[in-house]
Amino acid sequence: MIEPYHHTSKPFVNRLHPDYESFEDFLDKYELEIDRIKTELGTVKDALVGLEIPEGLKKFSHDLIAYLEKSLNTKIILSGDTCFGACDIKYYQFETLGINKIIHFGNVAISNRILPKKFKVVYVPLYMKIGIDDQITKAVAYLSKNKIENIGLISSVQYIKNVPIAKKALTAAGINVFVGKGTDRVGFAGQVLGCNPSSATKVMDKVDVFVMFEGGGFHALPVSLATHKDVICFDPVSGDTNIYEYKKLLKLHRTKLTALKQQLKKAKKVGFIISNKFGQSRMESLLKLQKEYEKGGYITDIVLVDFFNSDSINSTDFDILVSTLCPRVALDEREKYLIPILSTTEAIAFIRDPKNLDKSLVFDQIN
Ligand code: SF4
Repeated sequence: MIEPYHHTSKPFVNRLHPDYESFEDFLDKYELEIDRIKTELGTVKDALVGLEIPEGLKKFSHDLIAYLEKSLNTKIILSGDTCFGACDIKYYQFETLGINKIIHFGNVAISNRILPKKFKVVYVPLYMKIGIDDQITKAVAYLSKNKIENIGLISSVQYIKNVPIAKKALTAAGINVFVGKGTDRVGFAGQVLGCNPSSATKVMDKVDVFVMFEGGGFHALPVSLATHKDVICFDPVSGDTNIYEYKKLLKLHRTKLTALKQQLKKAKKVGFIISNKFGQSRMESLLKLQKEYEKGGYITDIVLVDFFNSDSINSTDFDILVSTLCPRVALDEREKYLIPILSTTEAIAFIRDPKNLDKSLVFDQIN
């Protein structure tokens, strides 16, 4: 499958699932929604249209550009920079070429964050065309063997069309299925983002576990950390069953925070990191938190970033970094930074009760 947009600055692995190695396979397996793109873009003949695609799709850059140019009768300019998701539409980059129409592949819009009016972005989620009958059979057997009666159903956007199908089939098998609709940041009932598991937290009190019909990786982690439940993923692409156990994930997270405690004790200078990405920027929370640190006797500064570069930030003289960026920067990539980095919720825990930093865990959700 196509690697989704990546949330953080890890080097990208340019890979698709082995079964989908050709552009034709890609066209076969994902919905490109050309007719909708045409309608929403309006007249684009003799115009330039910007294109943002996930890293995993870049291996088909030329094929995709040629396909879109032919289908839409326009000239496409691909953004070669890394785009991290719907939170990171690079309208300001396209603006330098006078482009104000952009096609963004791999996500739905974040409806509670508004782009400047003159830009028209067509979001194409790339829904995956894959049946899940076998995985449903597997799930029913697994849930009945483990005497699990109440489940929450969650999904990333690529697989979201399978949610009603799975709900119907699992309900018919006698399982109580709950599908929550989270905050406005998510587009669909059941949809979760790497920064927003609110569709899961909405129903967490009613369920024993969460179930996904996909590989899980990136999206299962925030759901498990925020709900304190295991997430069981039945992957229709690989056929694997992946279980993300809350207890194990919590232990790992705590161990990482415990390792920072000595360094944090001696800290004086704190760098608050803010993003210019329109769907990540959290200035209000940053300013509140900064005040709290200043009251606590820390020296503080604010650092603005677009692409958060570990080499560059590692050269600064801060003793602590507080990341108000995508929460996955601190959560998944702590090891890359020579300076201890805390997410927004970890930074709150640290300033209020430093000794127990590693005991508390509140997922740093962006709303
Ligand atoms: S902020 Fe959310 S949408 Fe943006 S890259 Fe991070 S997880 Fe994805």
